[in-house]
Amino acid sequence: MPIVSGGIDSTTMLFFLASNNYRIVEVLSFNYAQKHKIETERAKLIIDYFAKVHYKIDHQIVDIGNIGKIIAHGALTGNADLPKKMYDTESQKITVVPNRNMIFLSIAAGRAITIGASNIGYAAHASDYSVYPDCRPEFIETLDKALLLGNLWDPVHLVAPFKHLSKTEIVKLGLEIGAPLELTWSCYSNSSRPCLECGTCLERTEAFMNNNISDPALSEDEWQQAIISMDDKRSMSIK
Ligand SMILES: [Zn+2]
Repeated sequence: MPIVSGGIDSTTMLFFLASNNYRIVEVLSFNYAQKHKIETERAKLIIDYFAKVHYKIDHQIVDIGNIGKIIAHGALTGNADLPKKMYDTESQKITVVPNRNMIFLSIAAGRAITIGASNIGYAAHASDYSVYPDCRPEFIETLDKALLLGNLWDPVHLVAPFKHLSKTEIVKLGLEIGAPLELTWSCYSNSSRPCLECGTCLERTEAFMNNNISDPALSEDEWQQAIISMDDKRSMSIK
């Protein structure tokens, strides 16, 4: 049972797990009072696409908006502004929502046991290690043990196939296995099109540039703008 946000990592993971003989029963997405709610809409489109190329799966959108409000913090759920530059550890910290992934995974474990699923797919990856401690292998291994100890009679495991992959490597894999990256959404701003300037947009642009391919989610004009934006931010960080 993968957690799918509608972004590149979790979308690639969904298709990766299916092509590695995991039987997907259900997919979980979360509404946690994030400003960029469009990602959940994209998750729906991605699951519809999955039904066309694989098989139909249920999609649970878990609404924890009230919990999101009491832990509102930083730029994703709180009042802080999004950093409009390439991420470094300090600027990316503003995008941390306290204990978010632990909350997601805990709910996912309860749901997995309820529907008889034995694994939870978690798309943590290596590019997020420095600022998101809950994406590190130590956290994943420890939580896997805790979930087992807490649910001994109904064991459930964390599967995190990308824990050692970078964003660039995930894009490469997604392209290779035919994941619908054109349907994914990464931008953290609350707008109908990607802003192309926030740290997450820039990280996404960089990953496609590293793969020598334009972002299939963007129009040709938007891609050109994304490259200009990338060059601007790079030259700013050199100065
Ligand atoms: Zn953006």
